Amino acid sequence: MEPILLAAIAVTIMGYIHSGGHVLFVDSVYEPVRKIADAFLKPNNIAYSFFKTDGSDFEQKIQSNTQLIFVESPGSLLYEMLDLPEICRIAHERDIPVGVDNTWGSAWLYNPLELGADVSVIAATKYLCGHSDVMMGIMVATEKAWKQIGALPEALGQASSPDDAALVLRGMRTLGQRLAAHGKAALAISQWLETRPEVEKVWFPELPSHPRHDLWKRDCKGSNGLLTIEFKKQYTAKQTENFIDALALFGIGASWGGFESLALPANVVGARTASDWREGHGPFVRLHIGLESVDDLISDITQAFSTLNQ
Ligand SMILES: *Cc1c(COP(=O)(O)O)cnc(C)c1O
Repeated sequence: MEPILLAAIAVTIMGYIHSGGHVLFVDSVYEPVRKIADAFLKPNNIAYSFFKTDGSDFEQKIQSNTQLIFVESPGSLLYEMLDLPEICRIAHERDIPVGVDNTWGSAWLYNPLELGADVSVIAATKYLCGHSDVMMGIMVATEKAWKQIGALPEALGQASSPDDAALVLRGMRTLGQRLAAHGKAALAISQWLETRPEVEKVWFPELPSHPRHDLWKRDCKGSNGLLTIEFKKQYTAKQTENFIDALALFGIGASWGGFESLALPANVVGARTASDWREGHGPFVRLHIGLESVDDLISDITQAFSTLNQ
């Protein structure tokens, strides 16, 4: 257990990467991981690059000095699915380990080790805790991977407190029931949002309109409460910020996975560098659908939509 997940991601990278090496990330990786790249990899002579969120340039981005592939599936902000078994097959042919950020799946909806990965890291801060009052990260590894990187957290003095561990154990008792409720509500709200004239696209992997919905169907056991609204291009970022301010039942917050609904502007273009996200999209707002009544949430979003044109 790690104090926060970002620490677990850093340890995974440090355990596998050495000076002169290269780490290959998927472009949809949790954005603060780019800070590890800037603050740690660069000064230590470690190269890094990003491959496209659909995996189409994955193989060609692997270098002779690549020492770790680090991915996230479904990806941050838009939940793009990767063909993880295929990524792992290609990486392992070259003896390169694969680490996966599995915060979306939270040890319940998606199982990266079963799909071939070597290390899976999960923010227990989110659904495992479930009450937004703990920050903790978890590393799950194959025996082989653990031999290589398992000693690092202790060696680096990273530890979680017993009180925090007790709070996460409390949350885990209801993990399955909570995720079932989050997923069911988020699907209902996604389907409703798809019918709204303000909305260009709803990004939610359980919708058949989602890119690589087939991979979600094949590899995931359900959905969580995350969905992202792409507004029509006619709306400005400022208008969608007013929409967020007008929501009464949604808090404004980044750290999802608790019982409550949250909304946040999502800067998809700013969070990506290897994909074709420069132009042609309206503003994005990420919602986390909590455990409140779906009808209440839909009427709240409806009244907030009405402020868009003011
Ligand atoms: C929240 C989140 C993290 C970071 O978790 P912390 O415990 O807050 O450090 C990492 N990856 C993803 C995908 C996340 O959503």
